[in-house]
Amino acid sequence: ISDKFSGIMRSLAGKSKITEKNVQEAVEEIKMALLDADVNLRVVRRFINGTMEEATGEKVLKAVDPGQQFVKIVYDRMVALLGDEENQKLLLKGPDTTSVILMMGLQGSGKTTTAAKLALRLKKEGRRVMLVAADLVRPAAILQLQVLGEAVGVPVFSLEGEKNPAKVAKAALAQAKKDQRDVLIVDTSGRMHLDETLMDEIQKVRDAISPDETLFVADAMTGQNAVTIAKEFEQKVGISGVVLSKFDSDTRGGAALSLRSVVGKPIKFIGVGEKVEDLDPFYPYRIASRILGMGDIVSLVEKAQSVVDENAAIRMQEKMAKNTFDLQDYLDQLNSMDKMGSIDQLLEMIPGAKGQVSEDDVNTEEIRREKAIILSMTYAERSNYHIMGPTRRKRVAKGSGTTVSDVNRLLKKFEKMRLTMKKLAKNKKYQAEMLKQMGM
Ligand code: GDP
Ligand code: MG
Repeated sequence: ISDKFSGIMRSLAGKSKITEKNVQEAVEEIKMALLDADVNLRVVRRFINGTMEEATGEKVLKAVDPGQQFVKIVYDRMVALLGDEENQKLLLKGPDTTSVILMMGLQGSGKTTTAAKLALRLKKEGRRVMLVAADLVRPAAILQLQVLGEAVGVPVFSLEGEKNPAKVAKAALAQAKKDQRDVLIVDTSGRMHLDETLMDEIQKVRDAISPDETLFVADAMTGQNAVTIAKEFEQKVGISGVVLSKFDSDTRGGAALSLRSVVGKPIKFIGVGEKVEDLDPFYPYRIASRILGMGDIVSLVEKAQSVVDENAAIRMQEKMAKNTFDLQDYLDQLNSMDKMGSIDQLLEMIPGAKGQVSEDDVNTEEIRREKAIILSMTYAERSNYHIMGPTRRKRVAKGSGTTVSDVNRLLKKFEKMRLTMKKLAKNKKYQAEMLKQMGM
């Protein structure tokens, strides 16, 4: 492996620093990707500019180009912006009192469904949940919640004939306390568009029950529009958390980034289907990857970051050129490969590299064995494998829990490797070909 791999690393030498110029192409691509993902245009601009400022002058890793590294920086910032696990937890009080969750959002955004999904989730956590039907606008709304409540095994509170949702909510809270229910989830009505009546109504419900958590439910497919709506809800009612429904659609989820950067409230869950089980915690890593859609480049840079020590790479090149590459160097390389996880995966991501290394070369079992063998050798043996006579081979096999033929195979392979390296180090044509294959 190591000869070919080093060759790849060598030819991939990056330019030294990130500048506006050498990442221009990447910036354009990222902009397109974000707009494609339906991220709000202003959010895209602000986000990219901010990232550019932060990244300019940063040193580029040897194994990637500045554009690739910029993609990774964008990704990291996006993950950070989307939030951390801590603020994604529901703001609930302990089980000895009644916590209140208020659901709000436009009509059809998924409030009622999400209320039932949350009820199920909390019930599974051992909470005693009660749902409240405070959507009194749509005729079938109460029935819809009752059906869902039945499906998840959670009681649904409603008041026959009552037209005031705040009154229903208040009565529900009293009932919940009496029944020692520790979480109350209040479903409210939505409108097709924002209007004063809707906001008025929700404010009154809010004031009647003082929710611990006010969840704004937005359809992930509404993309840019979600921002305007969320801002309005934030100003008029106050949002403590966001649920993005319908993430199972083919949306890339740009709304998540827009919402987060404009409203600044944590996204706590995503809806991933119509069934009551279809509610997932919000994972910033996963969503950032989906929004940016450049997961391959991101993982490539991550791997390069975690492993490639520039100086080590240069030293290795020199050794190869001078043909002083020894078994200790080989061991070092095997160790750094290990950190990268599967070499296969890494090669997958480098254009043109795949065919250069055969399946057998990346056999992890073999890597493990080879490492054990080299570790059982003395430093003198590692630096000069020629002294490995039959007695030494037998001793090393025993010490490493392998067989003499395993040791023989490694030494033979290493000998061949050194020969190839020697040739490659001299061959300019080969190096040029490598570069071309990788489109550089
Ligand atoms: P509400 O008007 O805000 O209460 O919205 P509903 O809860 O009634 O949901 C509106 C429609 O969206 C219903 O047909 C739901 O089944 C559907 N829905 C809600 N959440 C999701 C989701 O996460 N994925 C999918 N595919 N459909 C959803
Ligand atoms: Mg509803």
